[in-house]
Amino acid sequence: MTASFSDPILVLTADPQINSLVETLLQPEGFNIKIVSEISEARKAINEKLPRLVIMGERLPDGSGMAFARELNEITATTPVLLFVYQESTSVLKQAIQAGVIDTFTLPISGENFLKMVRNGLAVGDRRRGWMQKETRLATANLRSQMSDLETLSRLSQSITSQLDLDSVLSTVMDTAVSLTGAEESSLLLLDETSGELYLRASRNFNNEETNQEFRMGITDSLAGSVIRTGQPVLVDEENLKKIKTDYLVYSLIYVPLRTHDRTVGVLGVDNRNLKKPFNDYHVRLLMAVADFAAIAIENARTFSDTDNERARLETILTKVQDGVIILDSEQKIVFINQGAREALALSDEDLSYQSTDATVQINEILDLVTRGTTRAEINLSEGRVMDAQVTEIANVGTVITLHDISMFKELDRAKSDFVNTVSHDLRTPLTTILGYVELVERVGPVTDLQREYIRHVQMSVHNISNLVNDLLNLGRIEAGFDKHKEVVHIDRLIGESCENLKDQLAYKGHRLMVEIPPNLPPVWGSPILLAQVIDNLLGNAIKYTPPGGQIFIKVDLEEDQMILQFKDTGVGIPPMDLPFIFDKFFRASNASGEASGTGLGLAIVKSIVETHYGRIWVDSVLSQGSTFNVVLPLYVEGMEEKK
Ligand code: ADP
Repeated sequence: MTASFSDPILVLTADPQINSLVETLLQPEGFNIKIVSEISEARKAINEKLPRLVIMGERLPDGSGMAFARELNEITATTPVLLFVYQESTSVLKQAIQAGVIDTFTLPISGENFLKMVRNGLAVGDRRRGWMQKETRLATANLRSQMSDLETLSRLSQSITSQLDLDSVLSTVMDTAVSLTGAEESSLLLLDETSGELYLRASRNFNNEETNQEFRMGITDSLAGSVIRTGQPVLVDEENLKKIKTDYLVYSLIYVPLRTHDRTVGVLGVDNRNLKKPFNDYHVRLLMAVADFAAIAIENARTFSDTDNERARLETILTKVQDGVIILDSEQKIVFINQGAREALALSDEDLSYQSTDATVQINEILDLVTRGTTRAEINLSEGRVMDAQVTEIANVGTVITLHDISMFKELDRAKSDFVNTVSHDLRTPLTTILGYVELVERVGPVTDLQREYIRHVQMSVHNISNLVNDLLNLGRIEAGFDKHKEVVHIDRLIGESCENLKDQLAYKGHRLMVEIPPNLPPVWGSPILLAQVIDNLLGNAIKYTPPGGQIFIKVDLEEDQMILQFKDTGVGIPPMDLPFIFDKFFRASNASGEASGTGLGLAIVKSIVETHYGRIWVDSVLSQGSTFNVVLPLYVEGMEEKK
């Protein structure tokens, strides 16, 4: 708070003589006078407006004038106080001086002296205020300059966060270093990890004979090197020209360390070569702040370049990998397609946008194939090529389709099936011959009991082999798609026939059979012979793998456009570790007992048939409690015969 000329002279006195002095002498002079008689009033007045001068009495109705003068001296150092005392004794004067009073007076006093004293008091006040204003201006200027330094630093931090190009960020760093320290030149030296030398990465006005790029220095014999070694800043400020590493001469210089992750990776320097201008600690602190920003910029650039390299590496891998890779965004638009996928889908090289209708149609077909819980499908392409397509949803990426060429495996599988078919076929005739001759043995002459038992063994084994051969031929036919004939099939009828066919076996094992079929069951579209085989097989297995006196339950349900068939038994169940392989060819579970003979082909055949009917099959089983085989088949829809 500073006082101005219009500010009042505060008169605090209960003495009528002083009041009349003030009124007769000061008011005619045009001074702004405020008269109060109590300290409390004076405090209020001072709080509202600081007076230019206070004239007060020694004794006041609510306290001591001397004490109030002391209080005032602490509140405002610029307002002078004149004290009226009753007696100008040495001790009173001493107290007044200690209280910060500038002058005292007693009555009577001449008008002239009184005016002189007041004028002098006002002059002291003016001088004090003038001095105060000057000091404040100086302090403000200092603050302003520091503020501007901070603003410069904050601009630097903005430039670092808004720019990714290291060169332009470092150029800003160099400018900032020069402008904050008022230096002639600035330089940024980075440590070359391989050679252990410092090299010049950026500079401003750096005046070196050699080209900047070639400017290098060791760290053992240079001042900058000592900063690297100690991690501490260096301030050189000598009147004499100092030679830095025998390379260049300076009057004054600051080197500060550049730290990333607690490691000193370089040195930021400013210097004056021509001007004899010193640096101080404040400059060192500013330069340290700039170095921190430079370190962040370098670290950001490194991270960005690492990430960018990694991205480029992954892109190269994805592009060069032989398998096809297609990435779709959330709107199913192609965002990436590699060479493998382009070749698989026979897309022309010119189609750079990848969004050709040709590509979109083909990709939609793949997506259509891979539906309802399954994530992979086999796709038949032109020229007999077969691809295994896998679709994966990846959060924040979209849909990724990978295409793996399995044509060769398919071809091998076909060759193997052909071979098995031929061999099976060729085995049939000799097997029939063996059976025929074995049967003849008993007819052509008497045989012993032991011989009869051996003959029975031979017959059983040959029987098993012909079952196997029949199963193999069956499977071969189904896989090759020979039984193409399809018609409207009533599953309820097939179930009835199967139960009838197997009723002897059911009775033999003493099983109880329950069948639950909804009335008016709609038909499916398929081959009645093959579908009957599915039912025979699953019911046959349920009978075979359930110990005598068990329960078998066949249930049919409808769900939307699908039929769900369940074959549930209370049998031996399937060990969990065998479940994944149960539909594989020749696989028999580890708990399949010896007496329940089989080839391990039945379920493979069933699965093949279900799949050629666009259905699905799976099993739920608990060991020693029972198994449920579930088959889902699409219901017949009018017009299906033309489509499939
Ligand atoms: P096979 O019956 O000729 O051995 P399958 O292919 O029909 O061959 O069955 C494969 C294996 O699956 C069987 O050996 C048996 O271990 C197991 N299995 C099939 N059905 C059942 C069932 N209902 N309960 C328990 N195990 C079963």
